[in-house]
Amino acid sequence: MTPAMSINDYTFTSYWAECLQEILAVRLFTTIAALRCYLNSQKSAAPHLTVGLVPTMGALHAGHLSLIQRARQENAIVAVSIFVNPLQFGPTEDFQDYPRNQEQDRLLCEQAGVDVIFAPSATEMFGNQAVDSLRDSFAARTDTEKTAQKQIEIDLSSLTQVVPPQAMTSVLCGKSRPGHFQGVAVIVTKLLSLVQPTKAYFGQKDAQQLAMIRKLAFDFNLPVEIVAGPIVREESGLAMSSRNLYLTVEQKQQASVLYRALQQASETFASGDRTAAAALAAAQAAVAVEPAVELEYAELVDPDTLAPLQVVETAGLLAVAARVGSTRLIDNIILRNRRPIVAIDGPAGAGKSTVTRLAATALNLFYLDTGAMYRALTWLALKTGTPISDEWAIAELVSSSYLEYNLDPASKMLKINGEDVTEAIRSLEVTSRVSEMAAIPAVRQFLVEEQRRCGKKGGIVAEGRDIGTNVFPDAELKIFLTASVQERSRRRLLELKDTDRANISLAQVEQDIALRDEKDSTREVAPLRKAADAVEIQTDNLTVAEVIDRIVGLYKQRIGSKS
Ligand code: AMP
Repeated sequence: MTPAMSINDYTFTSYWAECLQEILAVRLFTTIAALRCYLNSQKSAAPHLTVGLVPTMGALHAGHLSLIQRARQENAIVAVSIFVNPLQFGPTEDFQDYPRNQEQDRLLCEQAGVDVIFAPSATEMFGNQAVDSLRDSFAARTDTEKTAQKQIEIDLSSLTQVVPPQAMTSVLCGKSRPGHFQGVAVIVTKLLSLVQPTKAYFGQKDAQQLAMIRKLAFDFNLPVEIVAGPIVREESGLAMSSRNLYLTVEQKQQASVLYRALQQASETFASGDRTAAAALAAAQAAVAVEPAVELEYAELVDPDTLAPLQVVETAGLLAVAARVGSTRLIDNIILRNRRPIVAIDGPAGAGKSTVTRLAATALNLFYLDTGAMYRALTWLALKTGTPISDEWAIAELVSSSYLEYNLDPASKMLKINGEDVTEAIRSLEVTSRVSEMAAIPAVRQFLVEEQRRCGKKGGIVAEGRDIGTNVFPDAELKIFLTASVQERSRRRLLELKDTDRANISLAQVEQDIALRDEKDSTREVAPLRKAADAVEIQTDNLTVAEVIDRIVGLYKQRIGSKS
């Protein structure tokens, strides 16, 4: 769009109206060509643009919106797909009746700051050859027309299929919904391939779907990060779902027993019995109290592989499906058998590393020194003569290395490729090159995986910029440690007192810190963000001992004697 050269009232007004429209309005595309055109032009203007995709079937509710909000925080462009995917509905399921509410969806997306909605028809998605009907076009989805809709016939023999591992599709909902996850796998593969998002957002609500999609992305090496959002619930505990629209007020109340059943199981688990038998018996007994709710299954499986579990070693997914009237509902909870994790994030100079180390000692937890991990990789690059400027060689090097730790709180031992580097990583040479190394995306990606691996059994405290938001989103306690720019500058100046930068002015330090804050919170990789469930500790007027006391207090309050 170019501004009018000669300004007359009309062109001037229409130009600004167009601008405003472009700023405010969410773009809605129903064709692949238009979506591609839009994304291509956005990406050619800014090649490193981050794109977040939230795939949905519409009838948006607070569960969807929580994913959209997260995507909005983390990406330059947010795309929401709205597509009632016929492939994932069985012949006797509710495809025709599935709630469709395009105008409200568009408004909600607009309010949530979504950039683009992709709402194709089945024909657009699967082609004329595969689709027997045009009746599902987005424009046709009004209530009156909906009643005239027929089941869309898809000729599967003319479509390329994506087949998830049978072990993941034959359990839980797979038993009563043959073909469902295959249908999900096809549509998600298509959407990921079309949008090529940096991150794609899925709800923990559909835990089996989430596990299957993670596996799909892993097995096909898809260049996307799969992000899971927690289950959003109504006040009664009922998990939000588009299908809740089928329920009467009374049925909704009855259906909330599912959440109480999951809580019962969780309590049994927390009391020390980690067996599937105990958790399932507790859940089944709780559901039985509500005769209107007919339990289809309650199962305990591994959250990643979905393999049935007898006992929970580290984490178990307790999933349930039930019918209330003719409506089928699902819900789940993760039962964790691990020691707690404390995640400490905050701006540079807020005293995170000192506080984290001391908090770990006070809580008898392992201090996961993420800085030491970056140092170990830097040490390895220097030792092997791999130029840190050669990103590709560094990616090759780190991806074939392995780190070892002793997770004993008293240990600082760190080995890389079998060699103990606990002392060596403190050298001046490593110190001077570590930030260059940490800026390489492949290094960060490798270490985030490592950190998550360390966290499997919990019992750790870690600090950084995105520990609570990205590395350990399930951390039991998240702290956002902060201090004003002035206070952090004052502390920095004290640190510099005996160095060759002692002459720097307070104003200059303040300017540097403010600049660093801006850079850290807007950087593409691992930006600094406060997790929604983090407790902020403002340390301006606190001593280090007082900060530790607060953290210990919060830990006791949250975790009590469970650790
Ligand atoms: P659907 O429109 O049902 O296909 O859902 C689209 C996405 O929203 C999926 O990733 C769901 O897991 C997610 N979602 C649905 N309900 C909830 C909820 N109550 N809380 C969080 N995410 C949800």
